[in-house]
Amino acid sequence: MKGLVVIIDGCNPEYINEEATPFLYALKEKGGYMEISFTPTFANRVEIFTGKSPRTTDTFVDFCYDPKRSPFKFLKFLRKKVTLKNRSPTVRKLLSLCSFLSSGFFVDPINIPLSFLPYFSLNESMIKFLNDERKRTEEHLFGVLEREGFEVDFLYGTTVGVMKRVMGMLHGERKVLFVHFGETDGIGHKCGPNSPEMRKTLRLISAAIKKIFESGKFDFIFVFGDHNMVQVHENLNLWQGLRKLEIKPLQDYIFFLNSPMARFWFRNERAEEIVKEHLSSLKCGKVVTKKELKKREIPVHEKYGELIFWMKKGINISPDFYHTQKVKGMHGYLDEDARVPFIAFRKDGELRMRKRGRLRDIAPTLLDLLGVRSERMEGRSLLKRK
Ligand SMILES: [Zn+2]
Repeated sequence: MKGLVVIIDGCNPEYINEEATPFLYALKEKGGYMEISFTPTFANRVEIFTGKSPRTTDTFVDFCYDPKRSPFKFLKFLRKKVTLKNRSPTVRKLLSLCSFLSSGFFVDPINIPLSFLPYFSLNESMIKFLNDERKRTEEHLFGVLEREGFEVDFLYGTTVGVMKRVMGMLHGERKVLFVHFGETDGIGHKCGPNSPEMRKTLRLISAAIKKIFESGKFDFIFVFGDHNMVQVHENLNLWQGLRKLEIKPLQDYIFFLNSPMARFWFRNERAEEIVKEHLSSLKCGKVVTKKELKKREIPVHEKYGELIFWMKKGINISPDFYHTQKVKGMHGYLDEDARVPFIAFRKDGELRMRKRGRLRDIAPTLLDLLGVRSERMEGRSLLKRK
């Protein structure tokens, strides 16, 4: 059995249509199709490849409050003014190199203010996942497949980059090839999910998938998105609002601006009260309770924020620590209806799917089709028994 598993980064169900993605549309019509839900974390890859919920793997966002383990501890002497500006690629590379020398990991400091850097570190659970992937342990789908004697290849990149390298990876009989097309995420952010640029990219990806599937003579194919992309219609300059408050960053509190949410840590009660009051005056988002986080299966831990303010769908925090330019698309909203497409097609034989599913069900579905059992995964196969 030989399979092709394709991830399209930031993919909406509407992207699968006759005009933009004719090959994927034909697969959808002939094979099994469903729309699956996902937890609004920024670590969807972990859910896909472990088959477990983000609460179990403790993965939510990449940067956590963790002054003890911060690879930027050495910057602590810099108690300068807190400023937010676009960091040049050279400075980012230099700081990343410094982080490697101090911690053994290259950590991209993006645009996190210099004086905030010593308080943030990459999430330890995320590092564990990356190690599991590299060492192909049983915690990772790749490890499970290799234990069963399948050859596994994984390719991530742009369509052009993927097509340059993929042709050397098509050989083998007992094999699963994973291809992750990454550029749709960047284009979704920059140009928006409904832009001509997105349609053009999708056309290229659909044609590339057709070529890979046919040249490799695969027996089956899965195609799905890891998260969706929402059109941004409004921006909030939270940075400016916070700087006008009568409390001082670092001295009274610290915060992290992800795009659809802001996370806070406080040094005193007064700061907490003032920030809460400020946030409650804003109509474009809400402070989320632990109960709601748990309901959405988001791990609850102080390292992720003592307080989290989440934006309403389509409203973006701008600037944030990732982007200083305004973006036209964003993901990660607390939206109950968010779905990504999941297509499964098999050359000989029909595939019938369940009605509902989640991202963590994909790995068990793949194993089910290959006749492999894994007790470690929490998801369950999306295939319907005849
Ligand atoms: Zn993104």
